[in-house]
Amino acid sequence: MAALRLPRVGMGTWHMGESRGERAQEAAALTLGLDLGLTLIDTAEMYGEGGAEEVVGAALRGRRPDAFVVSKFYPHHASRKKLFAACEASLARLGVETLDLYLYHWRGNVPLAETVLALEELVAQGRIDHWGVSNFDVDDMEELVSVSGGTHVAAGQVLYNLARRGIEFDLIPWCRERGIALMAYSPLDEGPLARHPGLATVAKEAGVTPAQLAIAWAARNACAIPKASTPAHVRANRAALDLTLDAQVLAKLDTLFPPPRSKQQLEII
Ligand code: NAP
Repeated sequence: MAALRLPRVGMGTWHMGESRGERAQEAAALTLGLDLGLTLIDTAEMYGEGGAEEVVGAALRGRRPDAFVVSKFYPHHASRKKLFAACEASLARLGVETLDLYLYHWRGNVPLAETVLALEELVAQGRIDHWGVSNFDVDDMEELVSVSGGTHVAAGQVLYNLARRGIEFDLIPWCRERGIALMAYSPLDEGPLARHPGLATVAKEAGVTPAQLAIAWAARNACAIPKASTPAHVRANRAALDLTLDAQVLAKLDTLFPPPRSKQQLEII
């Protein structure tokens, strides 16, 4: 199977759909992102307990072909008995026939072999195009590829940003060697990197904002999926896609946020 190629920057949706009054604004932010060429939307059945998927569904209305849609299922839906219904419910909330990528949100108690079998069935049924995992460290990935069908894993989504670089030591090279796509969640560390004083200084010298610098930096190694709910943030994040960071800027960032020198346990939000 050909390796899955993802765009360098997409859009996150955590905390969308939690408040009825904000849904229209959130959907408009996603629509603007699609208009500007941010084609990948990351969501999950967990976000707003289905509310975020409904917001994504509103943004996708009439323009499904423009988007690459990623959703995730709860660990308690990872069994053969539960996964098919969970997937159908996500598809219905999103108003789509097929998910481009379906991720196991974090590892639970169901044997991996059973979950993989069910995911492979969803591919065969045309309900999902690809499947992957989230919050899996190298040891979990090793176990995953050892079960039947496990090597079909197309993507891993993990916490990765300037302040959390642990995966550079092992998970990034491990995935690269095997052609498994990586997605970087919380590229702004949930917001604080956009206000980091040291990062702000480097960003000013480079003529960009700290958030743009943080996103462009993460996007060098993975598909970065910042969540933005205002038009200004969406436009800024789209512009980050066009940034190329030179060696001088990268060296300054390494001084501010040193790369890992040894194995670090995968951090999870
Ligand atoms: P994040 O994207 O690192 O940060 C989001 C925060 O940054 C929001 O407060 C947002 O504000 C702000 N922001 C966005 N663009 C900005 C800009 N250009 N300038 C200044 N501030 C900006 O955090 P996240 O939402 O935790 O992570 C991103 C996505 O990754 C999630 O939405 C979700 O899809 C995914 N995720 C996955 C997992 C997992 O377990 N697989 C875990 C966490 C997150 P506004 O909303 O006001 O624009």
